[in-house]
Amino acid sequence: MEEKQKGRTICFHCGAVNRIPPEAFQPGKKVLCGRCHNALPEPGVVLDLSPERVYVLIKNSSLPLLFEFYSTQCPHCWRMHPIIERLARRRAGEMMVGRINTDYYPELASGFGVKAVPTFIIVRQGTEVGRTSGVMDEMEFSLWVASRA
Ligand SMILES: [Zn+2]
Repeated sequence: MEEKQKGRTICFHCGAVNRIPPEAFQPGKKVLCGRCHNALPEPGVVLDLSPERVYVLIKNSSLPLLFEFYSTQCPHCWRMHPIIERLARRRAGEMMVGRINTDYYPELASGFGVKAVPTFIIVRQGTEVGRTSGVMDEMEFSLWVASRA
């Protein structure tokens, strides 16, 4: 059961769930969606998300989603980045993790009611199930995510 979930990744273009063995992703090699043949995001990697990708994921993803809203000016965000990256690797194929640069996409941030950075939002089946802001230590953050996704 557990093993089947490994390597699941959601296509940004059509929203299809693809089951890809992690070893299929090699540097410089594109892994294509089985439905629409566009390149797939690699499981376990924190994705840089545009508003379009955020909406494709929310609309289609059967995996839980963790979004980090951050700013390049924010030292708290820089402290959280390695924590998010390790979490994404640990939970590869179980959830999709992406970050949104609020300097580039302020409308997206305000659309989500994000008032401070970093803000973390967890979405399951199109519905927000958790939200927190500010610096957390790694254990606290992992437990918070695990309690919701
Ligand atoms: Zn696709």
